Amino acid sequence: MALTGIQILKMLPKKNCGECDVPTCLAFAMKVAAGQADIGDCPYVSDEVKEKVGEASAPPIRTVSLGSGENVFKTGGETCLYRHEKRFEHPTGFAVLIATDMPEEDISGRLERFNSLRYERVGLILKADLIALKDATGDAGAFTGLIQRTREKCPDAPLILMSENPENLKAGAQACGEHKPLLYAATEENADQMADVAKDTGCPVAVRGETIGRTAQISEKLIGAGIKDMVLDTGARTVKAVFEDQVVMRRVAIKHRHKPLGFPSICFPCEMTQDPLAEALISSILVAKYAGILVLSDLRGETLFPLLLERLNIFTDPQRPMVVQEDIYPINGPDEKSPVLITCNFSLTYFIVSGEVEGSKVPSWLLIKDTEGLSVLTAWAAGKFSADLIGAFVKKSGIEDKVSHRNLIIPGYLASIKGELEEELPDWKIQIGPREASHLPAYLRDWQPEG
Ligand code: SF4
Repeated sequence: MALTGIQILKMLPKKNCGECDVPTCLAFAMKVAAGQADIGDCPYVSDEVKEKVGEASAPPIRTVSLGSGENVFKTGGETCLYRHEKRFEHPTGFAVLIATDMPEEDISGRLERFNSLRYERVGLILKADLIALKDATGDAGAFTGLIQRTREKCPDAPLILMSENPENLKAGAQACGEHKPLLYAATEENADQMADVAKDTGCPVAVRGETIGRTAQISEKLIGAGIKDMVLDTGARTVKAVFEDQVVMRRVAIKHRHKPLGFPSICFPCEMTQDPLAEALISSILVAKYAGILVLSDLRGETLFPLLLERLNIFTDPQRPMVVQEDIYPINGPDEKSPVLITCNFSLTYFIVSGEVEGSKVPSWLLIKDTEGLSVLTAWAAGKFSADLIGAFVKKSGIEDKVSHRNLIIPGYLASIKGELEEELPDWKIQIGPREASHLPAYLRDWQPEG
């Protein structure tokens, strides 16, 4: 049963020292109760309290980590059914399947595409996350060889090791050293043996059942054997069945705290169709409906990129606008005669505007004013992008030391504050830029300083 903030507060030392990065013990207790902070962030609580609170405040779907160091992939940790209730915590991981019986060019092509298919978007690098290595022939040597080759070619890729033979999985996990792979899979037949392998190697284990009910039975058995980190595959391989299972698993874990199903899921679109577009379509459904990991048959830019964008949209925290830092951003190597533009710090605005300025090839200075992530008009309406605030920011930004002219280009939508801004910045000429960022290249190419 979850503890309330007040119940957690009673167990804290009440020093109000702020060492947990929260100003008071009460605020910290509320955050722990809401699942937004870890009780271990307070250095003064006893191990007994950590265990008691940690257990009670743990998310209903366990967080499972794969990989090592900076390349850890986390899945699970979810606390709600719908994103608007709070947020989804860990984005669905995309894995590419490589099997030991694939032709050489298929293996090397997948490894190469895992490294090369990376896209920058709003300051983030979007890419596939994991590689699933399948022991297709039962040959332990070939399996371990593929693992070692993958570790060399793609050292930052967390791995999923797939084999019907627990001994091969154990040898594969040992070949990974400190880099913890997910071991796929514990079944009704080998659950005891897989529990031993998971304990010996310290790796998380995937459970595969014939149905959702039988998956829960295996998971319950492994919980009884002391295994904590699991990922669940209900065995469903049709869209309807896998969709139903994902929804049922999430509901019973969140609404009823049913522990055997309180783990992230792994789904196999690669085993549900031969058609790459149908595979992408199935994957897009499962990104929206709760898949922890999706194993794809291959990585293709034309289907991977839309899936990555969908994932970015769904797993962006709806309560926190994405922002960039308030600063002066030089674009295309500007000098003292280059134009100066200003806009807000909503990251989408920044990346659209900076992209257009960069595309214009005109050396420019872009001032980014902190508007708490609001877009231009919303920020202006909320009083966060008003003439007095812009004026104060321009003065303190240091742009006056970088340019010899005094011309400031403001977004076309803010034309109405031109007069006020000229009062705030009497040395500057205020120029009205275009309303749409797409018109910036033409505007900048024709730009002339005034005065
Ligand atoms: S570190 Fe501990 S004692 Fe200090 S404010 Fe946070 S919860 Fe309170």
